[in-house]
Amino acid sequence: MLLGDAPDFDPFTGAHLAAGEEGDQSPGARAGLEAPRYCQLCGRRMVVQVRPDGWSALCSRHGDVDSTALERR
Ligand SMILES: [Zn+2]
Repeated sequence: MLLGDAPDFDPFTGAHLAAGEEGDQSPGARAGLEAPRYCQLCGRRMVVQVRPDGWSALCSRHGDVDSTALERR
């Protein structure tokens, strides 16, 4: 999973940003407090696990992304 690049898909709404769709993110999502629900590379729904210290999300095609990875950005 590449982080830091402009996503093709909105990770919270699944909107296809690369096709001109706009995501309508909640304030919590914008602040990075919510776990993403959609893979930003392919728009697939991800399997999300929320932990006390953060979250991880798994795309069946692109692997997992973890909140700790985003914090390093
Ligand atoms: Zn994916």
